[in-house]
Amino acid sequence: MSKVVPKVFRINTGSCNGCDVEFVAAAFVDKFHIATSDVEFVDDVKDANLLVITGPLTARSESFLKNALTKLKKPFTVVGVGTCSVSCGIFRDSYAINGPLDKFVDVDVNVAGCPPRPESIAEGIAKGIKVLEQKLSGEVTPKTIDTIFSDFSAPASFRGRMDLNPDMCTGCRTCETVCPSTAIKIEENEEGFIHNIWHNSCCYCGNCAYFCPTGAIFSTNSFDTVKLQNEKFSDVNVANIPFEECSCCGEKYMPPSRGLLGKSYVHDDVNKLNTNICSKCRKEANFKRMYA
Ligand code: SF4
Ligand code: SF4
Ligand code: SF4
Repeated sequence: MSKVVPKVFRINTGSCNGCDVEFVAAAFVDKFHIATSDVEFVDDVKDANLLVITGPLTARSESFLKNALTKLKKPFTVVGVGTCSVSCGIFRDSYAINGPLDKFVDVDVNVAGCPPRPESIAEGIAKGIKVLEQKLSGEVTPKTIDTIFSDFSAPASFRGRMDLNPDMCTGCRTCETVCPSTAIKIEENEEGFIHNIWHNSCCYCGNCAYFCPTGAIFSTNSFDTVKLQNEKFSDVNVANIPFEECSCCGEKYMPPSRGLLGKSYVHDDVNKLNTNICSKCRKEANFKRMYA
């Protein structure tokens, strides 16, 4: 494989600067490895073969980006940094946004996060270099690249990738409603609900966890968000929330969450509560018990 000296140029296509601040940390703080490697940061796009882009691509910056793309050394790789560059994040649907980035440029590596941690940006650049080496040697661009750094860690309180405990979820859609990045989609079919969290769109605000009535959705301290472009649409947390059959009328219904029952019946053993009947049959049973 050809040895390549990566020459990095960064373009801000409408970022709030959060990603750019983290990029500076990734670039110049020794512990993130880039500063001590042979990566070169150039101030003229004509000298670059690795383009780092931050921001959701505003209408104003579109022509600027297109112009830069014509000047890069060939071959080159593109690393999109920040949820904005991947999916437009919280700016999605704004009149001022023409992105996401991959509408206009072949992105090679996506680094989600709002902003991503410097370690993730360093990882994204390292993966971008791998892709560049493959392009230079004429090999097929890889479908997967192993994680370059294995010493990623964050404090337990860090708001990282969201996760879901399906046993606690009732498909109430609160999380879907409060998510500012439309990262959560809940679909309903005959069998139940399908709960999707699209990690590349999440901005880690924690709204979903804060408002979830049952505690089903929660943030982890994982910030494994660096993906090749072909993984962009598959980095999704998919969970099935199945309906149950009412023991009384046989209709399918969504059972109450154990977590919610635990909050409502603090002095009872929720496992002993009769929960396997639908709300309609429960109302009738309660009515008969009280008035029959
Ligand atoms: S991803 Fe977040 S931090 Fe980065 S530019 Fe967008 S809003 Fe700012
Ligand atoms: S995760 Fe929580 S807020 Fe979202 S649908 Fe499930 S119960 Fe409702
Ligand atoms: S933390 Fe939750 S509410 Fe916030 S963007 Fe991510 S999925 Fe949406």
